[in-house]
Amino acid sequence: MLEEVFRKYFPGYENCRLTGIGSLPGMRETRRVIGDYILSDMDVLVGNKFEDGITIVTDILCQHHPTSRKKGFYAHTHVDKPIEGVYCVPAGACNDWDMHPFMEGRGYEVRNNQETYCEIPYRCLVPKGLDNLLTAGRCISTTWHAQIASRLIAPSFNLGHAAGVAAGMCLDMGILPHDLDGKLVRKELVEAESYPMPLDPGITRRKPKELVLHGEQLRAHY
Ligand SMILES: Cc1cc2nc3c(=O)[nH]c(=O)nc-3n(C[C@H](O)[C@H](O)[C@H](O)COP(=O)(O)OP(=O)(O)OC[C@H]3O[C@@H](n4cnc5c(N)ncnc54)[C@H](O)[C@@H]3O)c2cc1C
Repeated sequence: MLEEVFRKYFPGYENCRLTGIGSLPGMRETRRVIGDYILSDMDVLVGNKFEDGITIVTDILCQHHPTSRKKGFYAHTHVDKPIEGVYCVPAGACNDWDMHPFMEGRGYEVRNNQETYCEIPYRCLVPKGLDNLLTAGRCISTTWHAQIASRLIAPSFNLGHAAGVAAGMCLDMGILPHDLDGKLVRKELVEAESYPMPLDPGITRRKPKELVLHGEQLRAHY
């Protein structure tokens, strides 16, 4: 049927043959649970660490604008006042509602501190009000902006692994996920060398100067 539609309505496709399509549409954002901890935008941007951290957020806020491809990868959020240790610039050309359908583009633009990384705590995997469930991947407990970072393939993969390890520990101990101490999950992952080792703190992924340049280039994008 799709082939017929293309042949009939798309100039140049009169003799096309459809050889394959994706079996399912991909979704970047789906439902998220509310868990014992909600990973926030600021956790990601500041690079917060947690005693029960079970994996790391590996990349910047991989933002996709819902309507504009041009504005798609302008990965940042906004705060009222600059935050120490975080890359902040006064809000500029993006200060319009179109760029931020879910928030006001005001104050200061904030981007990830590329010299560090954020951890995801075990508590984000444990849904509030449900006793016998662990979540992993893009549905864990985060804010909208934080999910943009935590849903990436590498953290999703690691979260699934951590959830499996935690479930095994619950079975061994005869307890429910809520009662499992996330620090033990972290310990288990570290000892099994399954906790993703962050980069050597001495090696920055992007130097601050380049970061500023990056910001200016992005600004020129408008
Ligand atoms: C178009 C697109 C491009 C992306 N590009 C990138 C990228 O370049 N880099 C990056 O890091 N991330 C990218 N992402 C994000 C990343 O791929 C996803 O966020 C991540 O794969 C989510 O992992 P997940 O395990 O939560 O879900 P999924 O990978 O969707 O896995 C869920 C699995 O559960 C299965 N399933 C669903 N219901 C049932 C059921 N009832 N019973 C049994 N199985 C079921 C599904 O078939 C699926 O295999 C992209 C996402 C999209 C949509």
